[in-house]
Amino acid sequence: MNSTPKKYDTVIIGSGMGGLCSAYILSKEGFKVCVLEKNRQLGGSLQIFSREKVIFDTGIHYIGGLSEGQNLNRYFKYFDLMGKLKLKLMDVEGFDRISFSGDPTHYMHSQGYDNFIRVLSEQFPGERENITRYCTKIREICKFFPMYNLEEGQKDLISANFLETDTKAYIESVTANKKLQSVLAGTNPLYAGEPNKTPLYVHALVVNTYIESAWKCMDGGAQIAKYLAESIRSMGGDIFNYSEATKFNFSGDTIKNVQLSDGRVIEGKNFISNCDLSRTMDMIEPGHIRHAYRNRINHLENTVSAFILYVVLKSKSVKYFNHNVYHYENEEVWDVFNYDDASWPKGFALFPQYSSKNPEYTDSVIVLTYMKYSDMKEWDSSLNIIPNHKQSRGAAYEDFKEQKSQKLIKILEQRMTNLKGNIESYYSSTPLTYRDYIGTRDGTLYGISKDIRDPLKTFISPKTKIPNLLLTGQNLNLHGVLGVTVSSVVTCSELLGSHYLVKKIKEAS
Ligand SMILES: Cc1cc2nc3c(=O)[nH]c(=O)nc-3n(C[C@H](O)[C@H](O)[C@H](O)COP(=O)(O)OP(=O)(O)OC[C@H]3O[C@@H](n4cnc5c(N)ncnc54)[C@H](O)[C@@H]3O)c2cc1C
Repeated sequence: MNSTPKKYDTVIIGSGMGGLCSAYILSKEGFKVCVLEKNRQLGGSLQIFSREKVIFDTGIHYIGGLSEGQNLNRYFKYFDLMGKLKLKLMDVEGFDRISFSGDPTHYMHSQGYDNFIRVLSEQFPGERENITRYCTKIREICKFFPMYNLEEGQKDLISANFLETDTKAYIESVTANKKLQSVLAGTNPLYAGEPNKTPLYVHALVVNTYIESAWKCMDGGAQIAKYLAESIRSMGGDIFNYSEATKFNFSGDTIKNVQLSDGRVIEGKNFISNCDLSRTMDMIEPGHIRHAYRNRINHLENTVSAFILYVVLKSKSVKYFNHNVYHYENEEVWDVFNYDDASWPKGFALFPQYSSKNPEYTDSVIVLTYMKYSDMKEWDSSLNIIPNHKQSRGAAYEDFKEQKSQKLIKILEQRMTNLKGNIESYYSSTPLTYRDYIGTRDGTLYGISKDIRDPLKTFISPKTKIPNLLLTGQNLNLHGVLGVTVSSVVTCSELLGSHYLVKKIKEAS
């Protein structure tokens, strides 16, 4: 850190997608930027790890909106990512396939609204009109969010009734066909949707991006972080790994510097936190922020966490299949959260990985199923954070993981008969894994859970009550690659002006 300037224009805490995109925008505008990352690897949920020479993604399994002219494509042109990323277009006819135990049909989500309507109408004769109505509504809602469409301005969200519309109730109003309802809600793990809670706009913004176009990152999503970091450094930004922020020090009302766990202190004019919201609050000592604000933030509920199985397949045993699988034990797709020991898991989402080493075959799959943080009570106090707090969680934890893996593999092999006998080895992660490596309080999949019962309360502003502290990342607007990219633009607009920044991005795209 010899070249560290005395004071940065902006210090960003966390190198998740939101932190890196914010650093990119501000560096491009001539700000002297510093990104602090507690882990060795940059990228937060963009990180990868490898087992037996197979690369596994941790939080990016597919990305939407990347075809020419679509929203993420336009954003990624500005971030100088298009043309660099190794991408593969998923199966147009059925990039996501929904299935239910006891029903041999695999219900398709297709790319392009015309295809989506055509293919599902073939699978649900007599439902074309309802499916069309559903698609019209999804697109109508997406138009309401200017930044999602790379437009300026703010529509009157308060009067928009879909903020308070429950996704489950809406889907039930579209069709009386129970199976079709379950299929339309079948990719629910993409946003950890809950009944009587998840607003329709969350469902709409997420499913729309994949219906527009669905892509896999070849050899993992970490390439996004790699290219963003290269660009930030080439524009003069500093990025430091193994740099865990622990406390903000104040001068009057404003933050003067951030203190790191190893005693270093980084000075800045402005600070952006890309971390978990309650962890950000922990960095602010009492007296510097109103108790009511801290309380409100600390009491926001997070989305559920997950148990994830990372499966290495026997070499050249399974042909590459270019679609994801969402499987349910029954049609109650909204009930997957309500499990007990005996009924877990009630379903899973499976993502095949695409490797350049052997593109003809699937060398690995990732299988995700919900798991509550409360299931971790026994090991809650164990910390496994590199480099300073690496504790074994003990034999009982390893037993727990093994038992859960076996249960999951059992239902996996029933649905995916082509995997049977072809599993070479498997590894697993729990809510504690995500808690420790992302630095959240409970291993949440997607951050704050949006709620129809009080929609504005779960709408997080980038501004905080501290004049030189902004927020970015998945807790604002929306999670996911597109969601956090948009969040970074919303955050940086506070420093650059929205009109100016949107114009710059449009010019680049
Ligand atoms: C299992 C899973 C699957 C997913 N699948 C997809 C998918 O297929 N497609 C998609 O678009 N999205 C997916 N997502 C969502 C997407 O990955 C996230 O919404 C997005 O990457 C979050 O970005 P973020 O900017 O909020 O930062 P995060 O990824 O949350 O990163 C925060 C960063 O801050 C660092 N940090 C925390 N505390 C400190 C501190 N005190 N000091 C320094 N650094 C700190 C962390 O180490 C981390 O690097 C998935 C998420 C998960 C968990």
